[in-house]
Amino acid sequence: MGGNYSYHPNVTPKDLKGIVLTSTHLPSSEFSIETSTRPMSDGDREKILSKPGFGKHFTDHMVAIDWTLDKGWHAPRIMPYGPLMLDPASLVLHYAQAIFEGLKAYQHADGSIWAFRPELNAARFAKSAQRLGLPELPKDLFLQSIQKLVAIDAKWLSQTPETSLYLRPFMIADESFLGVRGAEKVAFYVIASPAGPYFENGVSSIPIWVSAHHTRAAKGGTGYAKCAGNYAGSLAPLQEARQNGCAQVLFLDAQQGQYLEELGGMNIFTVFKDGSLATPALGDSILAGVTRQSIIDIARADGHRVEERQISLEEVRTGLATGDITELFACGTAAVLFPISVLKSHTFAYSTPNVGASSVSLSLREKLTDIQYGRAKLSHHWMHKLTSA
Ligand SMILES: *Cc1c(COP(=O)(O)O)cnc(C)c1O
Repeated sequence: MGGNYSYHPNVTPKDLKGIVLTSTHLPSSEFSIETSTRPMSDGDREKILSKPGFGKHFTDHMVAIDWTLDKGWHAPRIMPYGPLMLDPASLVLHYAQAIFEGLKAYQHADGSIWAFRPELNAARFAKSAQRLGLPELPKDLFLQSIQKLVAIDAKWLSQTPETSLYLRPFMIADESFLGVRGAEKVAFYVIASPAGPYFENGVSSIPIWVSAHHTRAAKGGTGYAKCAGNYAGSLAPLQEARQNGCAQVLFLDAQQGQYLEELGGMNIFTVFKDGSLATPALGDSILAGVTRQSIIDIARADGHRVEERQISLEEVRTGLATGDITELFACGTAAVLFPISVLKSHTFAYSTPNVGASSVSLSLREKLTDIQYGRAKLSHHWMHKLTSA
């Protein structure tokens, strides 16, 4: 006990050379806990849980951990959910030095609560941190933060089908400084929000807008990092999509404007009539979705051929016209997976055939949710237990 638990990122500033990584591990007892004196009443919480929507309501607590250049990560704590105090000169408010993650906790039939492949989120969070000049949060601290928040706010989960607790870890530069450089003081938080089924009346297919003028990410840019700024840049195109009757935007590659990349916050797949699938290959302009990877793994285990490669808009157009491509779908943690009914732009509309109940998309979606909700047992260790029954 009493060790020095500071941790310094691999991208060590010069003046830190020689300081060793003392420990990446904080024993559980290191988290201090301040419970909320005004938790939501059972009645109010149940009312919310009966129709949670997405991202609108938050649980009673949150996790906070501080980092400074000289102390490393310190003061991990559970505290009542509430507003942050930020100096108006905080770096994050000016230069968007902010990253986040999104994953869900699921309650299984026996009452136990599980996270789906959270170590992939922890690893991606570390990658995003590197790209944004932020310190890496040790994987262990990431996982402990989630586990502790879910344990204290477990009442916010229910066994209503297709519901979950959406977890939002994020890191911001909260140093007061207007000079331009990576922050020497940052904060990490985890908040949690009950999530209902994304589709209230069963999964339906959705029209997608193809952005003709805007791109999401460039070669050498931040596209592969889950950073706030990527989202800021996708909002005007999203408005354009909404004005044209579409719920989401598909971005094409920034260099040639010909190849599919991804939606603002979801990855995309094509399904061919022989049952094989394709999805854009990862590069520095595409976010490596946990759902994307899991769909690839499940589809392959199921005998589908899955290619990760370039897919041009032209290939999709002719594929849909000839019937070679039978389905398109998008996937990500929040919505899980939905079929795409049509790709639209000012100058074209490429429709997919009617998506019946036997579609490949929907069967992959069901296989994935069966794993997440503990209805199917798997040989791979994808589920991570957060609390016991
Ligand atoms: C988060 C995100 C995804 C989906 O990732 P999941 O891990 O499957 O939730 C896809 N694209 C972008 C740009 C994202 O930010």
